[in-house]
Amino acid sequence: MRIRLCLVFLCSLLFTTVAKVNAQQSLDALIDRDLASLVTTYKTLHAAPELSHYEEKTAAFFATQLRALGYTVTERFGKYEDPKWTGYGVVAVMKNGAGPTVLLRTELDALPVDEKTGLPYASKVKMPNDAGQEVSVMHACGHDVHITSMLGTAKVLAEMKDQWSGTLVIIGQPAEEVVDGAKSVLCAGLYEKFPKPDYVIALHDSADLEAGKVGYTSGYAMASSTSVDIKIRGLGGHGARPEATKDPIVVAAQVIMALQTIVSREDSPLDPVVVTVGSIHGGTKHNIIPDEVDLQLTVRAYKEDVRKRVLASIARITKGIAMAAGIPEDRAPIVKFSETQYTSALYNDPQLTERLATAFTKAFGADNVVKLPPVMMSEDFGAYNLDQTVPAVQFTLGAVDPAKVKLSRETGTSLPSLHSAMFQPLPEPTLRTGVKAMTSAVLELMKKN
Ligand SMILES: [Zn+2]
Ligand SMILES: [Zn+2]
Repeated sequence: MRIRLCLVFLCSLLFTTVAKVNAQQSLDALIDRDLASLVTTYKTLHAAPELSHYEEKTAAFFATQLRALGYTVTERFGKYEDPKWTGYGVVAVMKNGAGPTVLLRTELDALPVDEKTGLPYASKVKMPNDAGQEVSVMHACGHDVHITSMLGTAKVLAEMKDQWSGTLVIIGQPAEEVVDGAKSVLCAGLYEKFPKPDYVIALHDSADLEAGKVGYTSGYAMASSTSVDIKIRGLGGHGARPEATKDPIVVAAQVIMALQTIVSREDSPLDPVVVTVGSIHGGTKHNIIPDEVDLQLTVRAYKEDVRKRVLASIARITKGIAMAAGIPEDRAPIVKFSETQYTSALYNDPQLTERLATAFTKAFGADNVVKLPPVMMSEDFGAYNLDQTVPAVQFTLGAVDPAKVKLSRETGTSLPSLHSAMFQPLPEPTLRTGVKAMTSAVLELMKKN
């Protein structure tokens, strides 16, 4: 009896192992079967980019594809503060029995960049921007890679329904590049009108990592970003009579230098912060002291309390320097922190990151899974974790021709970055890896026991 039980156990173990190998093989086979059509989809999307707030055709295409795969699809989901913009968010749901709800997110928008890759499927699209100016448009951040990978994943998962259970929610998010898209779908009730996720996952392509590899960062991966506008007001007058004025240009110069002491003297060296003055405008002529100078800043930080402290320091230092220059109270500087051009830090839940990294290692081998350092760039995916109460992870998808990465390391020349007019993902291995990574992540969280 005991021997027979053991045999049954051994057989079932063998069977499970074989079944797992087959599942992996069949996933590869399904992706192989779809790859040519995915590359065509990618090239079609690449040639037809749309700017943030105007993703009408991209969203309609995404929705149509998902509906054909059997998902329940809601279109035009999302609301902006500015009523002139339509929210082109797409939400697709597939219910498949009991289990966790997993939300996958792709962005839909492209950038005002004039493509210079010379590829046969390069974008020649021009369209009006928010200000009504005609601009060239390009998928220079690889959101076309993300959309295509998501469609590939959606198809494979629809076909593998016997291997997972739970609720899958796939969203096409508009306006990531102007960081108000995540807000637009969350404020419209993404987590109230549709099943609230237990896990949220996204991928972003990389302009440094080889196609065929995936990367991950545990904990803080990207910084929060706050736009700050400062108007320094003085008392203008003749350039030859400084004694009769309060010169806002000199005050602005002192403010710019003093702001650098926030990072070097006020902030803990263990809490990364960036304060960059990206724009300064004031004056019209050599011999006129102007009334005003305008500064535009970006502030990056990981922790929310650090961000708040830095913003308070910016206001304090700016006002203090103006006061020291003798500028009267009623001409004190105006310091504004933008609510619309703000995005929270991207925090990858460490436990979920660990689970996904293990699943990726199984799927691709340890050599193809890379731990990456955090960066001070920003993106609005961080908003989906609702102040770290919903576990969320954005992992990195290698997108560059491995030969180019090798050459760049050997010669020390840098590769075109994301947002560059020369950014050129290598379609086939990138999409293959994107679909396999995203599908493996979902199966890790939703697989049937
Ligand atoms: Zn981007
Ligand atoms: Zn992007």
